[in-house]
Amino acid sequence: MAMNTVTNWFGNLISHPAVIVDANSVDDIVGVLKDPVTYPSPVRAVGSNHSTTPCGVADGGTLIRMKMNKILSISGNSLTVQAGAVHLDMAKALEAQKLQFYVNTEIGSLSAGSAAIAGTKDASFPGEYGQVGSYIIGVKLVLPGGDLLEVTEAGQPELMQQVRSSYGMFGIVYEVTYSIKLLTPMHVHHKTFSLEEFLSALPDLKALGYSIMYYLFPFQDKITVEFRKYNPAATGDPDRIAWSLRNHIWGTSGPKLGHDVEQNVSIPSIRYGIIDGFNATWRFQLENIVSSDNTIPGDQIIQYPPVSNDSRYTFSLFAFPEEQFPAALTDFFKFCKDYYSQKGYRSNLLYVGYRIAQDQKALLSYSWDGTVMTIDPVSTANAGWETFLDAYNQFCSERNGLPVLNQTPQLTPAILRKAYGAKLNTLDTVRKQYDPGNRLINDYFRQLLT
Ligand SMILES: Cc1cc2nc3c(=O)[nH]c(=O)nc-3n(C[C@H](O)[C@H](O)[C@H](O)COP(=O)(O)OP(=O)(O)OC[C@H]3O[C@@H](n4cnc5c(N)ncnc54)[C@H](O)[C@@H]3O)c2cc1C
Repeated sequence: MAMNTVTNWFGNLISHPAVIVDANSVDDIVGVLKDPVTYPSPVRAVGSNHSTTPCGVADGGTLIRMKMNKILSISGNSLTVQAGAVHLDMAKALEAQKLQFYVNTEIGSLSAGSAAIAGTKDASFPGEYGQVGSYIIGVKLVLPGGDLLEVTEAGQPELMQQVRSSYGMFGIVYEVTYSIKLLTPMHVHHKTFSLEEFLSALPDLKALGYSIMYYLFPFQDKITVEFRKYNPAATGDPDRIAWSLRNHIWGTSGPKLGHDVEQNVSIPSIRYGIIDGFNATWRFQLENIVSSDNTIPGDQIIQYPPVSNDSRYTFSLFAFPEEQFPAALTDFFKFCKDYYSQKGYRSNLLYVGYRIAQDQKALLSYSWDGTVMTIDPVSTANAGWETFLDAYNQFCSERNGLPVLNQTPQLTPAILRKAYGAKLNTLDTVRKQYDPGNRLINDYFRQLLT
């Protein structure tokens, strides 16, 4: 059978499905699942295909592209959409009604179907979660045999917890309901620290009641922290420049510079001198311009082009228990510098991270046991990136880092098992109840889970 070629958004993961189906209705999905002859296994659905791991790969099988993207209903505290609706479109529709998501990820392309069953991250606000799926309170799925199933937080909390980590292996999601809240003005500011200053200030910073995200610059011994807080008392017109500048640097000009410098400057000291100079300007802009008492939370969401261009970037992620984070971060700064001096490789962008609250809403939540802080390398995948990621994975696993199945590339079964242990058995047991014929599992999950 002739195979198709489909890549993820970044372009580094290739899938060869035998059949591709654009799902415009529930019946389209039911039709696929009921007919294994025309639509071979594995059947995988993708939303925007932004994942940095092969979680959506359907080699030799059937790839369902979720085209169903309608907003079905908005009430004062909930939003119901078809699974292909994306985060930015949904946030705009909410804002028009003076409503907002709890978690406004920087990625606008995140589809509702993916948010419901896969990992996400954003810095959490006090008293709130930082994983989008934790605010998803209902999903409707087409099961592997073609039957329909509705799962709700209110009705089946334990199953909902498992669904949130099911990665499309229980069924294909076609409808999603989010818990939402009233649109509230948001303060943001940034401050830069040395590593030592940051670690000694961290207990005080946590006590201030901000969400905490950070940009890490190990080669310059600097950390720029993004502090956000809801500010319901804000008056006047919101500042719409602050986030658009951040979004432009983060989503367009930063990665484009990394890409261009990589192509045009072969001498590493000059190449990384240019990148370090750009990063210094970036820090200055974050501190001086991305600062306001009154911004719109949804303005943080970036519109990435549907087909990636020279501004594309990729990344990885491990989450560390927050009490172990200071040691892990100190080691990480040294690890990056040692790796560069020994192997000649460093990322051509930067590293970021998020502080994310304890959260048991998903079986494979990386913050199940307590609040975590993440270390996420970001790159245009310059030569040496994959080898670096193997070393980074080992480094993080040795320090009790927890990966995310759709955002941490090159995982091994041992690393995943160390992080999630018996929870993987639970997931696989429930998966088999819904999919005894292995219609939905692909090689990526088979190798890691079973
Ligand atoms: C440039 C960039 C920036 C990013 N920024 C962030 C960020 O700020 N925060 C964050 O959390 N993540 C971020 N990510 C990661 C991204 O959010 C996740 O990988 C997310 O899963 C992408 O959503 P998607 O719709 O593209 O999912 P896909 O990659 O299409 O799918 C993810 C998984 O869900 C399954 N799936 C998708 N739809 C369905 C469905 N309807 N039914 C059943 N299974 C389904 C797929 O098979 C796959 O296993 C970023 C990624 C990139 C490339």
